[in-house]
Amino acid sequence: MKYILALDQGTTSSRAILFDSFGNVAGKAYQEFRQIYPRAGWVEHDPKDILGSQVGVIAEALVRAGADIKDVEAVGISNQRETTLVWDALTGQPIYNAIVWQCRRTAEMCDALKESGADKIIYAKTGLIADAYFSATKIKWILDNVQGARSLANAGRLRFGTVDTYLLYKLSGGRIFATDYTNAARTMLFNIHTREWDDDLLSLFDIPRSMLPEVYPSGYVYGSTDAAFLGRKLNICAVAGDQQAALYGHLCTHKGDIKNTYGTGCFLLMNTGGEAVQSRNGLITSLAAGYTRSPDYILEGSVFVGGAAVQWLRDEMRLIDTAAESEALATKVPSSDGVYVVPAFTGLGAPYWDARARGAIVGITRGTSREHIVRATLEGIAYQVADIVSAMERDAGIKINQLRVDGGASANNFLMSFQSDILGCSVLRPAVVETTALGAAYLAGITSGMWSDAEELRNNERIERTFTPSIGKEKRAKLLSGWRSAVSAARIR
Ligand code: ADP
Repeated sequence: MKYILALDQGTTSSRAILFDSFGNVAGKAYQEFRQIYPRAGWVEHDPKDILGSQVGVIAEALVRAGADIKDVEAVGISNQRETTLVWDALTGQPIYNAIVWQCRRTAEMCDALKESGADKIIYAKTGLIADAYFSATKIKWILDNVQGARSLANAGRLRFGTVDTYLLYKLSGGRIFATDYTNAARTMLFNIHTREWDDDLLSLFDIPRSMLPEVYPSGYVYGSTDAAFLGRKLNICAVAGDQQAALYGHLCTHKGDIKNTYGTGCFLLMNTGGEAVQSRNGLITSLAAGYTRSPDYILEGSVFVGGAAVQWLRDEMRLIDTAAESEALATKVPSSDGVYVVPAFTGLGAPYWDARARGAIVGITRGTSREHIVRATLEGIAYQVADIVSAMERDAGIKINQLRVDGGASANNFLMSFQSDILGCSVLRPAVVETTALGAAYLAGITSGMWSDAEELRNNERIERTFTPSIGKEKRAKLLSGWRSAVSAARIR
Protein backbone atom coordinates (compact mmCIF):
# COMPACT_ATOMS: atom_id res chain seq x y z
CA MET A 1 0.00 0.00 0.00
CA LYS A 2 1.19 3.50 -0.87
CA TYR A 3 0.22 6.53 1.20
CA ILE A 4 0.08 10.30 0.97
CA LEU A 5 1.10 12.11 4.13
CA ALA A 6 -0.86 15.31 4.78
CA LEU A 7 0.54 17.78 7.29
CA ASP A 8 -2.19 20.13 8.53
CA GLN A 9 -0.55 22.87 10.54
CA GLY A 10 -3.44 24.74 12.22
CA THR A 11 -3.81 27.64 14.63
CA THR A 12 -4.18 25.54 17.76
CA SER A 13 -2.84 22.14 16.71
CA SER A 14 -0.64 20.31 14.23
CA ARG A 15 -2.05 17.21 12.59
CA ALA A 16 -0.58 14.49 10.42
CA ILE A 17 -2.94 12.28 8.45
CA LEU A 18 -1.98 9.35 6.26
CA PHE A 19 -4.35 8.76 3.34
CA ASP A 20 -4.38 5.51 1.38
CA SER A 21 -4.74 5.35 -2.39
CA PHE A 22 -8.56 5.35 -2.04
CA GLY A 23 -8.45 8.65 -0.18
CA ASN A 24 -9.35 6.98 3.11
CA VAL A 25 -7.80 8.00 6.42
CA ALA A 26 -5.34 5.22 7.33
CA GLY A 27 -3.91 6.84 10.45
CA LYS A 28 -3.81 10.21 12.13
CA ALA A 29 -2.28 12.03 15.04
CA TYR A 30 -2.53 15.52 16.41
CA GLN A 31 -0.87 17.68 18.98
CA GLU A 32 -1.97 21.00 20.41
CA PHE A 33 0.64 23.64 21.09
CA ARG A 34 1.07 26.78 23.14
CA GLN A 35 -0.73 30.01 22.34
CA ILE A 36 1.20 33.06 23.51
CA TYR A 37 -0.71 36.22 24.47
CA PRO A 38 1.89 38.89 25.30
CA ARG A 39 -0.76 41.62 25.59
CA ALA A 40 -4.51 42.02 25.09
CA GLY A 41 -5.27 41.38 21.42
CA TRP A 42 -1.79 40.06 20.60
CA VAL A 43 -1.28 36.40 19.62
CA GLU A 44 2.03 34.63 18.93
CA HIS A 45 3.37 31.11 18.42
CA ASP A 46 6.86 29.92 19.21
CA PRO A 47 8.32 28.74 15.84
CA LYS A 48 9.93 25.80 17.68
CA ASP A 49 6.46 24.67 18.82
CA ILE A 50 5.08 24.88 15.28
CA LEU A 51 7.90 22.76 13.85
CA GLY A 52 8.24 20.43 16.86
CA SER A 53 4.53 19.60 17.07
CA GLN A 54 4.28 19.10 13.31
CA VAL A 55 7.26 16.75 13.08
CA GLY A 56 6.22 15.03 16.31
CA VAL A 57 2.87 13.82 15.00
CA ILE A 58 4.24 12.20 11.81
CA ALA A 59 5.68 9.10 13.48
CA GLU A 60 2.51 8.57 15.49
CA ALA A 61 0.32 8.76 12.37
CA LEU A 62 2.56 6.17 10.67
CA VAL A 63 2.30 3.82 13.65
CA ARG A 64 -1.49 4.19 13.80
CA ALA A 65 -1.69 3.34 10.09
CA GLY A 66 0.69 0.41 10.52
CA ALA A 67 2.73 1.98 7.74
CA ASP A 68 6.40 2.45 7.13
CA ILE A 69 8.00 5.70 6.06
CA LYS A 70 9.10 4.06 2.79
CA ASP A 71 5.43 3.54 1.89
CA VAL A 72 4.86 7.32 1.83
CA GLU A 73 4.75 8.44 -1.77
CA ALA A 74 4.43 12.18 -1.22
CA VAL A 75 3.80 14.87 1.36
CA GLY A 76 1.20 17.66 1.12
CA ILE A 77 1.12 20.64 3.47
CA SER A 78 -1.89 22.74 4.48
CA ASN A 79 -1.47 25.53 6.96
CA GLN A 80 -2.99 28.33 9.02
CA ARG A 81 -2.86 31.31 6.70
CA GLU A 82 -1.29 34.76 7.11
CA THR A 83 0.69 33.91 10.27
CA THR A 84 4.06 35.57 9.81
CA LEU A 85 7.61 34.37 10.50
CA VAL A 86 10.88 36.18 9.85
CA TRP A 87 14.25 34.44 10.17
CA ASP A 88 17.95 35.02 9.55
CA ALA A 89 19.09 33.17 6.42
CA LEU A 90 22.60 32.76 7.83
CA THR A 91 21.59 30.97 11.01
CA GLY A 92 18.08 29.76 10.11
CA GLN A 93 16.93 31.25 13.43
CA PRO A 94 13.66 33.24 13.64
CA ILE A 95 14.27 36.76 14.93
CA TYR A 96 10.84 36.95 16.58
CA ASN A 97 7.92 34.67 17.44
CA ALA A 98 5.40 33.89 14.70
CA ILE A 99 2.76 36.64 14.70
CA VAL A 100 -0.55 34.81 14.37
CA TRP A 101 -3.28 35.87 11.92
CA GLN A 102 -5.61 36.77 14.80
CA CYS A 103 -3.12 39.24 16.29
CA ARG A 104 -4.47 42.82 16.28
CA ARG A 105 -1.19 44.65 17.01
CA THR A 106 -1.16 46.31 13.58
CA ALA A 107 -4.82 47.41 13.59
CA GLU A 108 -3.83 51.08 13.86
CA MET A 109 -1.44 50.72 10.94
CA CYS A 110 -4.40 49.42 8.93
CA ASP A 111 -6.62 52.33 10.04
CA ALA A 112 -3.92 54.68 8.69
CA LEU A 113 -3.94 52.78 5.36
CA LYS A 114 -7.67 53.38 5.13
CA GLU A 115 -7.35 57.06 5.99
CA SER A 116 -4.69 57.60 3.33
CA GLY A 117 -6.75 55.80 0.69
CA ALA A 118 -4.04 53.13 0.24
CA ASP A 119 -6.67 50.50 1.00
CA LYS A 120 -8.12 51.04 -2.48
CA ILE A 121 -4.77 50.29 -4.14
CA ILE A 122 -4.40 47.24 -1.89
CA TYR A 123 -7.85 45.94 -2.84
CA ALA A 124 -7.27 46.52 -6.57
CA LYS A 125 -3.99 44.60 -6.53
CA THR A 126 -4.51 41.92 -3.87
CA GLY A 127 -8.30 41.49 -3.61
CA LEU A 128 -7.95 41.95 0.17
CA ILE A 129 -9.45 44.42 2.61
CA ALA A 130 -6.68 46.32 4.43
CA ASP A 131 -6.72 44.44 7.73
CA ALA A 132 -4.32 43.35 10.45
CA TYR A 133 -5.03 39.67 9.61
CA PHE A 134 -2.80 39.74 6.57
CA SER A 135 0.98 39.37 6.71
CA ALA A 136 2.28 42.68 5.31
CA THR A 137 1.76 44.87 8.37
CA LYS A 138 3.05 42.07 10.61
CA ILE A 139 6.33 41.91 8.64
CA LYS A 140 6.65 45.67 8.85
CA TRP A 141 6.03 45.53 12.59
CA ILE A 142 8.88 43.03 13.02
CA LEU A 143 11.26 45.10 10.88
CA ASP A 144 10.37 48.27 12.80
CA ASN A 145 10.36 46.82 16.31
CA VAL A 146 12.90 44.00 16.57
CA GLN A 147 16.32 45.40 17.33
CA GLY A 148 18.70 45.11 14.38
CA ALA A 149 16.03 43.71 12.05
CA ARG A 150 15.97 46.60 9.63
CA SER A 151 19.73 46.54 9.00
CA LEU A 152 19.74 42.74 8.59
CA ALA A 153 16.87 43.10 6.11
CA ASN A 154 18.70 45.78 4.15
CA ALA A 155 21.76 43.53 4.04
CA GLY A 156 19.58 40.83 2.43
CA ARG A 157 19.88 38.45 5.36
CA LEU A 158 16.26 38.11 6.43
CA ARG A 159 13.65 35.74 5.06
CA PHE A 160 9.88 36.04 5.47
CA GLY A 161 7.52 33.14 5.31
CA THR A 162 3.99 32.13 6.15
CA VAL A 163 3.85 28.83 8.03
CA ASP A 164 4.08 26.72 4.84
CA THR A 165 7.29 28.49 3.84
CA TYR A 166 8.80 28.05 7.28
CA LEU A 167 7.97 24.32 7.30
CA LEU A 168 9.36 23.87 3.76
CA TYR A 169 12.54 25.69 4.78
CA LYS A 170 13.07 23.72 7.97
CA LEU A 171 11.98 20.30 6.65
CA SER A 172 14.33 20.65 3.67
CA GLY A 173 17.29 21.67 5.81
CA GLY A 174 17.17 25.22 4.42
CA ARG A 175 17.17 24.18 0.75
CA ILE A 176 13.61 25.20 -0.17
CA PHE A 177 12.50 28.83 0.13
CA ALA A 178 9.08 28.86 -1.47
CA THR A 179 5.36 29.31 -1.04
CA ASP A 180 2.27 28.69 -3.15
CA TYR A 181 -0.27 31.04 -4.73
CA THR A 182 -2.92 30.53 -2.06
CA ASN A 183 -0.58 31.55 0.75
CA ALA A 184 1.09 34.36 -1.21
CA ALA A 185 -2.36 35.79 -1.93
CA ARG A 186 -2.93 36.35 1.83
CA THR A 187 0.18 38.43 2.45
CA MET A 188 -1.20 41.74 1.06
CA LEU A 189 2.04 41.93 -1.00
CA PHE A 190 1.01 39.70 -3.89
CA ASN A 191 -0.73 40.95 -7.01
CA ILE A 192 -3.40 38.35 -7.79
CA HIS A 193 -3.83 39.63 -11.35
CA THR A 194 -0.17 39.53 -12.46
CA ARG A 195 0.51 36.73 -9.94
CA GLU A 196 3.77 38.32 -8.80
CA TRP A 197 5.04 40.10 -5.71
CA ASP A 198 4.10 43.73 -6.18
CA ASP A 199 6.86 46.36 -6.05
CA ASP A 200 4.45 49.19 -5.18
CA LEU A 201 3.15 47.28 -2.18
CA LEU A 202 6.67 46.28 -1.12
CA SER A 203 7.64 49.94 -1.07
CA LEU A 204 4.37 50.94 0.66
CA PHE A 205 5.25 48.57 3.51
CA ASP A 206 9.01 49.14 3.25
CA ILE A 207 9.82 45.46 2.81
CA PRO A 208 12.88 44.42 0.75
CA ARG A 209 12.15 41.95 -2.04
CA SER A 210 15.06 39.76 -0.95
CA MET A 211 12.92 38.64 2.01
CA LEU A 212 10.28 37.00 -0.19
CA PRO A 213 10.05 33.36 -1.27
CA GLU A 214 9.53 32.01 -4.79
CA VAL A 215 5.85 31.37 -5.58
CA TYR A 216 4.66 28.13 -7.23
CA PRO A 217 1.33 26.41 -7.94
CA SER A 218 -0.14 24.54 -4.95
CA GLY A 219 0.38 21.18 -6.63
CA TYR A 220 4.09 21.22 -7.52
CA VAL A 221 7.21 19.23 -6.64
CA TYR A 222 8.73 21.63 -4.12
CA GLY A 223 11.69 19.36 -3.31
CA SER A 224 12.40 16.79 -0.67
CA THR A 225 12.62 16.69 3.10
CA ASP A 226 16.02 16.31 4.68
CA ALA A 227 16.70 12.67 5.57
CA ALA A 228 17.70 13.82 9.06
CA PHE A 229 14.04 14.42 9.92
CA LEU A 230 12.37 11.10 9.21
CA GLY A 231 15.31 8.91 8.27
CA ARG A 232 14.35 9.16 4.64
CA LYS A 233 13.82 11.80 1.97
CA LEU A 234 10.19 12.45 1.09
CA ASN A 235 8.93 14.50 -1.83
CA ILE A 236 6.84 17.50 -0.87
CA CYS A 237 4.31 17.74 -3.70
CA ALA A 238 1.72 20.24 -2.46
CA VAL A 239 1.27 23.35 -0.36
CA ALA A 240 -2.00 25.22 0.23
CA GLY A 241 -3.54 27.55 2.79
CA ASP A 242 -6.08 25.72 4.96
CA GLN A 243 -9.30 27.14 3.49
CA GLN A 244 -8.20 26.66 -0.10
CA ALA A 245 -7.02 23.15 0.77
CA ALA A 246 -10.50 22.45 2.15
CA LEU A 247 -12.08 23.80 -1.04
CA TYR A 248 -9.92 21.36 -2.99
CA GLY A 249 -10.72 18.57 -0.52
CA HIS A 250 -14.38 19.05 -1.51
CA LEU A 251 -13.25 18.92 -5.16
CA CYS A 252 -14.78 22.36 -5.75
CA THR A 253 -12.74 22.83 -8.91
CA HIS A 254 -15.47 24.21 -11.15
CA LYS A 255 -16.85 27.71 -11.40
CA GLY A 256 -19.73 28.17 -8.93
CA ASP A 257 -18.61 25.32 -6.62
CA ILE A 258 -18.83 26.46 -3.02
CA LYS A 259 -18.00 25.13 0.45
CA ASN A 260 -18.51 26.24 4.00
CA THR A 261 -16.47 25.21 7.03
CA TYR A 262 -18.48 25.43 10.28
CA GLY A 263 -15.79 25.87 12.92
CA THR A 264 -15.52 28.47 15.67
CA GLY A 265 -16.23 30.90 12.83
CA CYS A 266 -17.43 29.97 9.35
CA PHE A 267 -15.36 30.20 6.18
CA LEU A 268 -17.12 30.26 2.83
CA LEU A 269 -15.18 29.96 -0.41
CA MET A 270 -16.61 30.00 -3.91
CA ASN A 271 -14.65 29.06 -7.02
CA THR A 272 -15.22 31.78 -9.64
CA GLY A 273 -13.11 30.17 -12.39
CA GLY A 274 -10.85 32.41 -14.46
CA GLU A 275 -12.56 35.60 -13.32
CA ALA A 276 -11.31 37.73 -10.41
CA VAL A 277 -14.73 38.92 -9.26
CA GLN A 278 -14.81 42.39 -7.72
CA SER A 279 -17.06 42.33 -4.68
CA ARG A 280 -19.58 45.04 -3.95
CA ASN A 281 -20.40 43.38 -0.64
CA GLY A 282 -17.09 43.38 1.19
CA LEU A 283 -16.00 39.87 0.21
CA ILE A 284 -12.36 39.03 -0.43
CA THR A 285 -11.05 37.96 -3.84
CA SER A 286 -8.22 35.45 -3.77
CA LEU A 287 -6.64 32.44 -5.50
CA ALA A 288 -7.64 28.77 -5.44
CA ALA A 289 -5.28 25.80 -5.28
CA GLY A 290 -4.30 24.32 -8.64
CA TYR A 291 -1.44 22.99 -10.71
CA THR A 292 -0.73 25.79 -13.13
CA ARG A 293 0.59 29.33 -13.18
CA SER A 294 -2.97 30.57 -13.67
CA PRO A 295 -5.00 29.20 -10.77
CA ASP A 296 -8.74 29.82 -10.48
CA TYR A 297 -10.00 32.77 -8.50
CA ILE A 298 -12.21 32.54 -5.44
CA LEU A 299 -14.55 34.76 -3.46
CA GLU A 300 -14.21 34.36 0.29
CA GLY A 301 -16.39 35.49 3.16
CA SER A 302 -16.39 34.64 6.83
CA VAL A 303 -18.84 34.60 9.70
CA PHE A 304 -17.09 35.71 12.90
CA VAL A 305 -19.30 33.72 15.27
CA GLY A 306 -20.30 30.29 13.99
CA GLY A 307 -19.84 27.28 16.30
CA ALA A 308 -18.76 29.84 18.91
CA ALA A 309 -22.47 30.69 19.34
CA VAL A 310 -23.00 27.08 20.47
CA GLN A 311 -20.11 27.45 22.92
CA TRP A 312 -21.87 30.56 24.23
CA LEU A 313 -25.07 28.56 24.79
CA ARG A 314 -23.00 26.02 26.71
CA ASP A 315 -20.53 28.16 28.66
CA GLU A 316 -22.27 31.47 29.29
CA MET A 317 -26.02 30.80 28.96
CA ARG A 318 -25.59 27.25 30.35
CA LEU A 319 -28.58 26.09 28.32
CA ILE A 320 -26.76 22.95 27.13
CA ASP A 321 -24.03 20.70 28.53
CA THR A 322 -22.43 19.71 25.25
CA ALA A 323 -22.40 21.23 21.76
CA ALA A 324 -24.04 18.08 20.38
CA GLU A 325 -27.00 18.46 22.77
CA SER A 326 -28.07 21.56 20.85
CA GLU A 327 -29.39 19.33 18.09
CA ALA A 328 -31.67 17.28 20.35
CA LEU A 329 -33.08 20.42 22.00
CA ALA A 330 -33.63 22.25 18.72
CA THR A 331 -35.68 19.40 17.31
CA LYS A 332 -37.94 19.22 20.40
CA VAL A 333 -39.88 22.22 19.12
CA PRO A 334 -41.44 22.47 15.64
CA SER A 335 -40.06 25.97 15.04
CA SER A 336 -38.26 28.80 16.82
CA ASP A 337 -41.70 30.41 17.09
CA GLY A 338 -40.65 33.81 15.77
CA VAL A 339 -37.52 34.05 17.96
CA TYR A 340 -34.30 35.15 16.24
CA VAL A 341 -30.81 35.10 17.74
CA VAL A 342 -28.27 37.30 15.93
CA PRO A 343 -24.88 36.21 17.29
CA ALA A 344 -23.14 39.48 16.35
CA PHE A 345 -21.00 39.33 19.52
CA THR A 346 -18.05 41.09 17.89
CA GLY A 347 -19.91 43.03 15.20
CA LEU A 348 -21.11 41.85 11.81
CA GLY A 349 -18.87 40.97 8.85
CA ALA A 350 -19.83 40.65 5.18
CA PRO A 351 -22.15 41.82 3.76
CA TYR A 352 -22.90 44.28 6.61
CA TRP A 353 -19.43 45.22 7.91
CA ASP A 354 -20.78 46.84 11.03
CA ALA A 355 -18.18 46.70 13.80
CA ARG A 356 -20.61 48.41 16.19
CA ALA A 357 -23.38 45.82 15.86
CA ARG A 358 -23.88 43.56 18.89
CA GLY A 359 -25.78 40.35 19.51
CA ALA A 360 -29.56 40.43 19.76
CA ILE A 361 -32.40 38.10 20.71
CA VAL A 362 -35.72 39.29 19.29
CA GLY A 363 -39.29 38.03 19.13
CA ILE A 364 -39.46 36.61 22.66
CA THR A 365 -42.93 35.92 24.12
CA ARG A 366 -44.18 34.49 27.43
CA GLY A 367 -44.10 31.08 25.77
CA THR A 368 -40.44 31.23 24.65
CA SER A 369 -38.49 28.28 26.04
CA ARG A 370 -34.91 27.10 26.29
CA GLU A 371 -35.53 24.93 23.22
CA HIS A 372 -36.61 27.96 21.18
CA ILE A 373 -33.51 29.94 22.13
CA VAL A 374 -31.21 27.02 21.32
CA ARG A 375 -32.95 26.42 18.01
CA ALA A 376 -32.88 30.11 17.11
CA THR A 377 -29.14 30.24 17.88
CA LEU A 378 -28.42 27.40 15.44
CA GLU A 379 -30.68 29.09 12.91
CA GLY A 380 -28.72 32.34 13.47
CA ILE A 381 -25.56 30.56 12.27
CA ALA A 382 -27.38 29.35 9.14
CA TYR A 383 -28.84 32.79 8.38
CA GLN A 384 -25.39 34.41 8.56
CA VAL A 385 -24.05 31.79 6.16
CA ALA A 386 -27.02 32.42 3.85
CA ASP A 387 -26.27 36.17 3.87
CA ILE A 388 -22.76 35.48 2.59
CA VAL A 389 -23.91 32.95 0.01
CA SER A 390 -26.35 35.47 -1.34
CA ALA A 391 -23.65 38.19 -1.46
CA MET A 392 -21.45 35.77 -3.41
CA GLU A 393 -24.26 34.95 -5.81
CA ARG A 394 -24.87 38.64 -6.47
CA ASP A 395 -21.17 39.48 -6.87
CA ALA A 396 -20.37 36.55 -9.14
CA GLY A 397 -23.70 36.44 -10.98
CA ILE A 398 -23.87 32.71 -10.21
CA LYS A 399 -26.80 30.87 -8.63
CA ILE A 400 -25.56 28.01 -6.50
CA ASN A 401 -27.34 24.68 -6.42
CA GLN A 402 -25.43 22.93 -3.67
CA LEU A 403 -23.23 23.73 -0.68
CA ARG A 404 -20.50 21.39 0.54
CA VAL A 405 -19.81 21.42 4.26
CA ASP A 406 -17.22 20.45 6.85
CA GLY A 407 -16.02 21.56 10.30
CA GLY A 408 -17.13 20.67 13.85
CA ALA A 409 -20.64 22.13 13.72
CA SER A 410 -21.42 20.47 10.35
CA ALA A 411 -22.05 17.34 12.46
CA ASN A 412 -25.29 19.00 13.61
CA ASN A 413 -28.08 17.52 11.48
CA PHE A 414 -30.62 20.16 12.48
CA LEU A 415 -28.24 22.95 11.51
CA MET A 416 -27.48 21.34 8.14
CA SER A 417 -31.13 20.69 7.42
CA PHE A 418 -32.11 24.27 8.30
CA GLN A 419 -29.20 25.54 6.21
CA SER A 420 -30.62 23.67 3.25
CA ASP A 421 -34.12 25.05 3.95
CA ILE A 422 -32.94 28.62 4.12
CA LEU A 423 -30.64 28.42 1.09
CA GLY A 424 -33.17 26.50 -0.95
CA CYS A 425 -30.46 24.15 -2.19
CA SER A 426 -28.82 20.85 -1.25
CA VAL A 427 -26.22 20.66 1.51
CA LEU A 428 -23.66 17.86 1.02
CA ARG A 429 -21.69 16.44 3.93
CA PRO A 430 -18.78 14.19 2.86
CA ALA A 431 -17.79 10.94 4.53
CA VAL A 432 -14.21 12.13 5.12
CA VAL A 433 -14.59 15.23 7.30
CA GLU A 434 -10.85 15.95 7.47
CA THR A 435 -11.36 18.06 4.39
CA THR A 436 -8.37 20.37 4.82
CA ALA A 437 -5.88 17.52 5.09
CA LEU A 438 -7.71 15.64 2.33
CA GLY A 439 -7.27 18.62 -0.01
CA ALA A 440 -3.52 18.73 0.69
CA ALA A 441 -3.37 14.97 0.08
CA TYR A 442 -5.35 15.20 -3.18
CA LEU A 443 -3.06 17.96 -4.47
CA ALA A 444 0.07 16.00 -3.49
CA GLY A 445 -1.27 12.70 -4.83
CA ILE A 446 -2.20 14.14 -8.21
CA THR A 447 1.18 15.90 -8.46
CA SER A 448 3.06 12.71 -7.60
CA GLY A 449 0.98 10.61 -10.02
CA MET A 450 -0.91 8.50 -7.48
CA TRP A 451 -4.14 9.86 -8.97
CA SER A 452 -4.58 11.22 -12.47
CA ASP A 453 -6.83 14.22 -11.85
CA ALA A 454 -9.74 15.66 -9.89
CA GLU A 455 -12.24 13.82 -12.14
CA GLU A 456 -10.84 10.45 -11.07
CA LEU A 457 -11.21 11.48 -7.43
CA ARG A 458 -14.72 12.79 -8.04
CA ASN A 459 -15.75 9.35 -9.26
CA ASN A 460 -14.71 7.91 -5.91
CA GLU A 461 -16.17 10.68 -3.82
CA ARG A 462 -18.38 9.58 -0.94
CA ILE A 463 -21.06 11.88 0.42
CA GLU A 464 -22.18 10.75 3.87
CA ARG A 465 -25.47 12.69 3.79
CA THR A 466 -27.31 15.09 1.51
CA PHE A 467 -29.79 17.52 3.05
CA THR A 468 -32.50 18.90 0.79
CA PRO A 469 -34.94 21.75 1.40
CA SER A 470 -38.19 20.86 3.14
CA ILE A 471 -39.85 24.28 2.91
CA GLY A 472 -41.18 26.29 -0.01
CA LYS A 473 -40.31 29.67 -1.42
CA GLU A 474 -42.92 31.63 0.53
CA LYS A 475 -41.98 30.22 3.92
CA ARG A 476 -38.30 30.89 3.12
CA ALA A 477 -39.03 34.49 2.18
CA LYS A 478 -40.98 35.00 5.42
CA LEU A 479 -38.19 33.57 7.56
CA LEU A 480 -35.56 35.68 5.76
CA SER A 481 -37.63 38.81 6.19
CA GLY A 482 -37.80 38.14 9.95
CA TRP A 483 -34.03 37.65 9.98
CA ARG A 484 -33.48 40.99 8.25
CA SER A 485 -35.55 42.75 10.91
CA ALA A 486 -33.58 41.00 13.64
CA VAL A 487 -30.28 42.10 12.03
CA SER A 488 -31.59 45.67 11.96
CA ALA A 489 -32.28 45.40 15.69
CA ALA A 490 -28.70 44.20 16.27
CA ARG A 491 -27.43 47.30 14.46
CA ILE A 492 -29.32 49.88 16.54
CA ARG A 493 -26.77 51.50 18.84
P1 ADP B 1 -12.06 25.12 14.89
O1 ADP B 1 -11.31 24.42 13.80
O2 ADP B 1 -12.46 26.52 14.60
O3 ADP B 1 -11.43 24.96 16.25
P2 ADP B 1 -13.93 22.87 14.76
O4 ADP B 1 -14.09 22.57 13.32
O5 ADP B 1 -13.16 21.93 15.62
O6 ADP B 1 -13.47 24.38 14.99
O7 ADP B 1 -15.42 23.02 15.36
C1 ADP B 1 -15.61 23.41 16.69
C2 ADP B 1 -16.89 24.24 16.81
O8 ADP B 1 -18.01 23.47 16.41
C3 ADP B 1 -17.14 24.70 18.22
O9 ADP B 1 -17.44 26.08 18.20
C4 ADP B 1 -18.35 23.88 18.68
O10 ADP B 1 -19.20 24.66 19.50
C5 ADP B 1 -19.02 23.54 17.38
N1 ADP B 1 -19.67 22.21 17.43
C6 ADP B 1 -19.08 21.01 17.58
N2 ADP B 1 -20.00 20.02 17.54
C7 ADP B 1 -21.21 20.61 17.34
C8 ADP B 1 -22.54 20.13 17.21
N3 ADP B 1 -22.84 18.82 17.24
N4 ADP B 1 -23.52 21.05 17.02
C9 ADP B 1 -23.25 22.36 16.95
N5 ADP B 1 -22.00 22.86 17.08
C10 ADP B 1 -21.00 22.01 17.27
